[in-house]
Amino acid sequence: MAGGSAIRGSRVGAGPMGEAERGEAAPRTYVSFWCAKGHETRPSFAHDAAIPESWDCPRCGWPAGTDKEAPPAPPRTEPYKTHLAYVRERRSDKDGEDILKEALDKLRGNPWKP
Ligand SMILES: [Zn+2]
Repeated sequence: MAGGSAIRGSRVGAGPMGEAERGEAAPRTYVSFWCAKGHETRPSFAHDAAIPESWDCPRCGWPAGTDKEAPPAPPRTEPYKTHLAYVRERRSDKDGEDILKEALDKLRGNPWKP
């Protein structure tokens, strides 16, 4: 046996304990907000802060209000609509036909036909 059991002084995590003030001195008010999808958010406000009428839901981005029964209406621009969906909406079938026709015309009137 070599017996070299040199256990290294593993002093792990002698972290700094200097904890700064946590802001516990100021009392906080928790206010619940609900969005139209029923998500609840409970941000905290300073005791003397003015409570806003609406709050952006962190889960879906919709505005949330303090009245659970009557949440604010969702915004018109749906956040989950993709850019492609917009393009598809704008581009009608006729546009597609035009593009196809143009391509066919090019094909038919191809001067360098094999
Ligand atoms: Zn939400």
